[in-house]
Amino acid sequence: MSFWWIYPSLLTFCTLFYCQALRTYPSNEVLPSDALHPCVLTSCTVTLLDSMSAAGDLGWVAYPSEGWEEISVMDERNTPMRTYQVCNVLEVNQNNWLRTSWIPRGEAQRVYIEIKFTLRDCNSLPGVSGTCKETFNMYYYESNNSNLWHIHENQFIKIDTIAADESFTQVDVGDRVMKLNTEIRDISNLYKKGFYLAFQDVGACIALVSVRVFYKKCPTTIRNLARFPDTVTGGDSALVEVKGTCVNNSEEFDVPKMYCSADGGWLVPIGRCSCKPGFEEKRNVCQPCRPGYYKALLTDLYCTKCPPHSFSLQDSSAECTCERGFYRAKSDPKSMACTRPPSAPSNPISTVNETSVIMEWSPPEDSGGRMDITYNIHCRRCLLEGQKCSPCGSGIHYIPRQFGLPHPRVLITDLLPYTNYTFDIEALNGVSELSSGPKQFISVNITTSQVVNVILKERKSKDSVTLAFQGPEKTNDAVVEYEVIYYEKNHKDQNYTILKTRSTSMTVDGLKPGTTYIFRVRAHTIGGQGVYGGEIELETSTEDMIAITDPNQITILAISVAGGVILLIFLVTCFFVSGRHCGYIKAKQDPDEDKMHFQHGRVKLPGSRTYIHPHTYEDPNQAVRDFAKEIDASNIRIERVIGAGEFGEVCSGWLKLPSKREICVAIKSLKVGYAERQRRDFLGEASIMGQFDHPNIIRLEGVVTKCKPVMIITEYMENGSLDSFLKKHDGQFTVIQLVGMLRGIASGMKYLSDMNYVHRDLAARNILVNSNLVCKVSDFGLSRVLEDDPEAAYTTRGGKIPIRWTAPEAIAYRKFTSASDVWSYGIVMWEVISYGERPYWEMSNQDVIKAIDEGYRLPPPMDCPLVLHQLMLDCWQKCRSDRPKFGQIVNILDKFIRNPSSLSELANSSTWQDPSMQDSFTVTSVEEWLEAIKMSQYMEHFTMAGYVTLDSVLYLSNSELSKIGISLAGHQKKILSSIQNLQALGTHVQI
Ligand code: AMP
Repeated sequence: MSFWWIYPSLLTFCTLFYCQALRTYPSNEVLPSDALHPCVLTSCTVTLLDSMSAAGDLGWVAYPSEGWEEISVMDERNTPMRTYQVCNVLEVNQNNWLRTSWIPRGEAQRVYIEIKFTLRDCNSLPGVSGTCKETFNMYYYESNNSNLWHIHENQFIKIDTIAADESFTQVDVGDRVMKLNTEIRDISNLYKKGFYLAFQDVGACIALVSVRVFYKKCPTTIRNLARFPDTVTGGDSALVEVKGTCVNNSEEFDVPKMYCSADGGWLVPIGRCSCKPGFEEKRNVCQPCRPGYYKALLTDLYCTKCPPHSFSLQDSSAECTCERGFYRAKSDPKSMACTRPPSAPSNPISTVNETSVIMEWSPPEDSGGRMDITYNIHCRRCLLEGQKCSPCGSGIHYIPRQFGLPHPRVLITDLLPYTNYTFDIEALNGVSELSSGPKQFISVNITTSQVVNVILKERKSKDSVTLAFQGPEKTNDAVVEYEVIYYEKNHKDQNYTILKTRSTSMTVDGLKPGTTYIFRVRAHTIGGQGVYGGEIELETSTEDMIAITDPNQITILAISVAGGVILLIFLVTCFFVSGRHCGYIKAKQDPDEDKMHFQHGRVKLPGSRTYIHPHTYEDPNQAVRDFAKEIDASNIRIERVIGAGEFGEVCSGWLKLPSKREICVAIKSLKVGYAERQRRDFLGEASIMGQFDHPNIIRLEGVVTKCKPVMIITEYMENGSLDSFLKKHDGQFTVIQLVGMLRGIASGMKYLSDMNYVHRDLAARNILVNSNLVCKVSDFGLSRVLEDDPEAAYTTRGGKIPIRWTAPEAIAYRKFTSASDVWSYGIVMWEVISYGERPYWEMSNQDVIKAIDEGYRLPPPMDCPLVLHQLMLDCWQKCRSDRPKFGQIVNILDKFIRNPSSLSELANSSTWQDPSMQDSFTVTSVEEWLEAIKMSQYMEHFTMAGYVTLDSVLYLSNSELSKIGISLAGHQKKILSSIQNLQALGTHVQI
């Protein structure tokens, strides 16, 4: 047997035979660190066996002995390496086995085997036809035993038949005609401690140059401040859910989780940790706030400067200490400046009305930095102004109250008449009680009075009257004397007389007969003198009068009192009205949300057709008659059952209409024992389908309603539903074929959206495929479009909204539109490119909703062209108006098909990072930030408006952007969403 042509590029055949066994690791031991390959960010591999790097003899078992042979050669760098070769191409019935030594699986459940080999093209060998082969087989055998000597051939499980991508035909060392092939296969769900690999040759000319066995790990990483450990990928293709632990100085905000995918990449970060108070996030760690800075809450993003009148001397401050003389009230946020008590009120004005007083004053000049100023009134009664005072005690009323007055005014009633009072008006704020300093107040002295009631006791003669005095009441101080002033009406300025008496009555003599006089009376007490009461008008008679004794004729002249009361009422009213806020509740008006135009009738655009909902018909049977052709059951020949629908079986069969050729059809039948409503819903699908006529919408042939079972007849789609079709043909289509399928679906959806039909359940399972790979949208189940029926609107045929396919606004508030269909279309794209993979794998619905809300989007499937993933991401824009329309999608896909090279750049799923996965995106200035988001044309706008630091832009709003001259809505949106990202995604901003 000669090997000279098998691996000629290996310069010399050195007969270096090492007897050392290949390094193996018992499965219960931790793998030595040199077994680890360095992990890259996205995935890392752990090598269990590498025949190239094994120092000694591999020690593999080959049988029969004339089969595989170990040859040691030197590579180009003069490093010895081992190959196994076999080339019994001239002999028949070859069955040569090469078995590796035992390979521990460590913690892996799924391992990958990478083999490098050369294979000789049989055509290039003369006289070997019939005996020469161009493939070999790879097997494995699981075992806990590392010392098995013999394993029976039929105990091995076949992994695959391996063929060369490149076989070589001749030996030409110089030109390197010989080709090295690399193939990777995997074994999943391993459960024993280790396994053996075996290679079976059946007559080929092979040199096995390298065998590497490895498994994949998701490398340790930090996301959202949670540390995720090295995680071995799952045994099958399911994701492994991993809970993260918060990094130092951070706390769980929402349970942090990620999923380790089968190819060793991390997916779907949800939840997060946040830095503890006193710490802020910088490059995935929580760093202490510097002196002079603080962070009070877990939810705060960054350390911020101590507010005015406060300081922090230490690192990691959760709050700043107030300067001397400044305080922080319990309810004050830590971000608020420290404040102090207010100065005293000023400019008091008092208006005394007998025993009441209205006091007003100006607020303190220094509010102490706070808005919560209130006033307290302290009352003292004094003998002389401000002297020999004692507390007023109870019995006095303060309106609205004595303490905690919100406005600088008060009405005080029920004071004693003829009394000196001193009122101290004290100003306070939220920190007054924390201060031990003196109270800040201003004093107001007043003296009360009271009007005397005057009674006309006697009109004794034509020239005199006797008056009696009553009051003042409620005074402890005895009345010393009454003072009467009188004058002729309208002659006050010329002549008036004042009389005084200690008695409670007085006779005024010397009056002119038949003349009208005005009398006013006041009292003097030891507290002081009162004010004159109101005018009392009396006319003397022309004749002498008899004494009046009838009490009914006693006139109580309390005009002034009445006047006073009216004045008081007026003042009180003004007092309260001035302090009141004028408010009204404005009815909240929602902006005119784009409404669901569910049009009945053909009224949309001139020339365009609008879908008519079967419910528009009073009689649903009429809708069926209008849109579906009745077929005679005798024209149908049922062949076999092909599926199960919601209402009964789906069969394939034949339809032969008179004077037409027989066609293959699908027949959906309504199961026996149906309720009327079920019949209506079943035929509803036909009423909808019958309105459509498009090559990418499943075509209705007709219905059978006149006899039982009731049936719906549609065109037959040979390849059934798209999801199972793709799974069955995993990896078998070119990208152009896949894009062609997607183009068809988009075209059907454009037709539906042009007709105002919202599908609501667009998914690969609801697309049917015919023998020409034409995809057609199907499943127009009526239950989904019953907008007014709460039950039906909440549910789809499976009883639930299909969460993974449905746009967030449709899940959240049932906003189903063509734009939400576009979202679902994006998911269908992902299903198609991944050959029927389940969107979001095995994640729970709740996690899917949460992840989408947090900005996560599905990564590109394997071998996905970059432009297709970009289109998917466009379909998954949060704001539905930002998603492309179906018409645009069709145009984009057409361009890809016309220019296939646009599809050649692949979006690498392991390097693709959705925004929420992005590591800290560090910008250090407004300029850098604007450049990063391609908005640097606005740099000057920001500078001119004084937004020169990054922290100053963090809370900008739409209206502020307009104010600084950024008026384009699209640019505002871009800038604001970037600001949101900076805040919400924990993107790192260095300030
Ligand atoms: P459906 O009730 O429309 O979801 O149909 C149930 C199953 O029947 C589908 O998943 C398909 O596998 C099959 N099916 C329905 N309609 C057709 C058709 N027109 N041609 C071929 N198979 C169909």
